[in-house]
Amino acid sequence: MSNRVYINGKLYDKADAKISVYDHGLLYGDGVFEGIRIYNGKVFKNKEHIARLYESAKSIHLEIPIPPDGMLADVEETVKVNQKVDGYIRLIVTRGVGNLGLDPRKCEPNIIIIVDDISLYPAELYENGLEIITASTTRNLSNAVNPRVKSLNYLNNILAKIEAIRAGCLEAIMLNHKGEVAECTGDNIFLIKNGVLRTPTVDAGILEGITRNTVIDLAKDAHIPVSECTLTKHDVYTADECFLTGSAAEIIAVTKVDGRIIGSGKQGPITRKLRDYFTKFVRS
Ligand code: PMP
Repeated sequence: MSNRVYINGKLYDKADAKISVYDHGLLYGDGVFEGIRIYNGKVFKNKEHIARLYESAKSIHLEIPIPPDGMLADVEETVKVNQKVDGYIRLIVTRGVGNLGLDPRKCEPNIIIIVDDISLYPAELYENGLEIITASTTRNLSNAVNPRVKSLNYLNNILAKIEAIRAGCLEAIMLNHKGEVAECTGDNIFLIKNGVLRTPTVDAGILEGITRNTVIDLAKDAHIPVSECTLTKHDVYTADECFLTGSAAEIIAVTKVDGRIIGSGKQGPITRKLRDYFTKFVRS
């Protein structure tokens, strides 16, 4: 069955799912989005994703023309229509069609829901771990477009991703303007040192990942101490374990950073444990 794509309350075949080239989402990256997993036919952390979408929109003065519960119902319905049991949702709200200037006042937002599949990394890397680098591209400043806003403008992260690819890696750590570890281009980062799970605070200038928050909750339930703190590259290089989290990536170990082997150079025992808890939790 071909994917049915939702645009403003109507469903279209993938080939007919189109929006105008005058949409400010295309012209300026003006809009917000969410990437959400479907596990066992259920939209994972649906309320959290919708809440973050509306907060992102509020932050950029974008008024979404339907209420959050209507959005939630439309997302669930689009998943049902597509008969997706396991998959991925891309929920997008663009500023909408305007003229060729920046002024958004004439724009009417477009709401788009795509239900599809995603696989970010080759399956064997989930066992063997990723090699990553630190990018020279700095994460957006919090007093520019705050990284907590999941905006359609990912150019900074794309530049860091290109750095990773050019270095033969699939991901890159982005530092904030103070040189502290923020996150990766599409994932949050965690370290384990002496049994403590460590991750940058939201104030470091990160997207407050829903997978990140889930992992923190799972760790606390498992009595693994958690510290949201300032982290440097040195902390990464000398960690016992490192892993990344994201809706698309889920949880993946990092075994090499900037040429330094992390811990044993293999997926560590706490990472494995948290991955097991996560896999059970998302399907519970
Ligand atoms: N940071 C960035 C920059 C992201 O784009 C994402 C989502 N892909 C994440 C972190 C992880 O967030 P979540 O767990 O909510 O998917």
